[in-house]
Amino acid sequence: MKKHILNYTKKDLEEFIQPKFRVKQIFSWLYQKKVKSFLDMQNIPKDMRQKLEDKFDIRTMQIVSKQVSRDGSIKYLFKLHDGHTVEAVLLKMKDKEYNEDGSIKHLEKYTVCVSSQVGCKVGCAFCLTAKGGFIRDLSAGEIVEQIVQIYDNNNLEANRRVNIVYMGMGEPLDNLENLAQAIKIFSDIDGLAISPHRQTVSTSGLSSKIEKLAKLDLGINLAISLHAVDDELRQKLMPINKAYNIASIMEAVRNFPVNLRKKVMFEYLIIKDVNDDLESAKKLVKLLNGIPSKVNLIYFNPYEGSEFQRPSEADVKKFQKYLLDKGVLCTIRESKGLDISAACGQLREQNLGEKQ
Ligand code: SF4
Repeated sequence: MKKHILNYTKKDLEEFIQPKFRVKQIFSWLYQKKVKSFLDMQNIPKDMRQKLEDKFDIRTMQIVSKQVSRDGSIKYLFKLHDGHTVEAVLLKMKDKEYNEDGSIKHLEKYTVCVSSQVGCKVGCAFCLTAKGGFIRDLSAGEIVEQIVQIYDNNNLEANRRVNIVYMGMGEPLDNLENLAQAIKIFSDIDGLAISPHRQTVSTSGLSSKIEKLAKLDLGINLAISLHAVDDELRQKLMPINKAYNIASIMEAVRNFPVNLRKKVMFEYLIIKDVNDDLESAKKLVKLLNGIPSKVNLIYFNPYEGSEFQRPSEADVKKFQKYLLDKGVLCTIRESKGLDISAACGQLREQNLGEKQ
């Protein structure tokens, strides 16, 4: 069976491919010119191209569905080599803007949300991915290929400023080794050159793995899916809290090397009559005391059969105001791609449903 070339950093490839400058050229073909066959790598000697073609695959997954939201976000469903599916979403954060003279002020700003596993072991009560259980980890190459294909599908240049969030299907820290490898591959200057400062690992709070990630010192940003401020409620929403309670997460976060210009992001999925009250906001402020943090309030996005509801705009605004008044940075995340079911796992579920 052929190996997936997108699994490898330049340093790894130097073990099979010599001289070194060839690896640099191959990286540029793979990530900047996005060729799909080694035979098209024109400045590589012909016999080397053939050997690479025999030994490696460049693409291992297919786009099986693509949904475009009214806000310009695009949700992709990829079929992997073994038939399983994962999703990734290209979120349009800002439209292209022009100066008065008609020149471009800035291009569209994108964030790509990628998956790290097929399914997930964490089992959050509000999550559709959790309902399907865990199937397997994605390889580093499969994490990388989601972005490569999205760049390709949207004609994005390799040097385009795009942010990555590891916030799709799966718990990224449960697949730490492959995640770390993907982070290194994305940040290679001869590849897509997506700096670690533009990559955010979002975790349900596996404190011991946060500590391991801290030791790797990759320079990435950290986001914690907190969602509740006391263990009892958090345990109901996120059973993983039994193993890693709020205190252990906060301790791991306090020891995490934070980029001085950045803050640790705390994701707070705000659910009607569950965690949208001012008492919770108060506790949250206390919890974050001393941590360079930013809170992102996310409207719960109901799906068919979900037991939770979307909170009112007034309650979300009140919650935000309380935090801001106490000096805690707080944004409200508009549900990007609401009309294409932006919560992770929904596209996959729909697709599986259609097949049954
Ligand atoms: S929300 Fe994330 S961590 Fe929780 S079950 Fe879903 S995919 Fe896993």
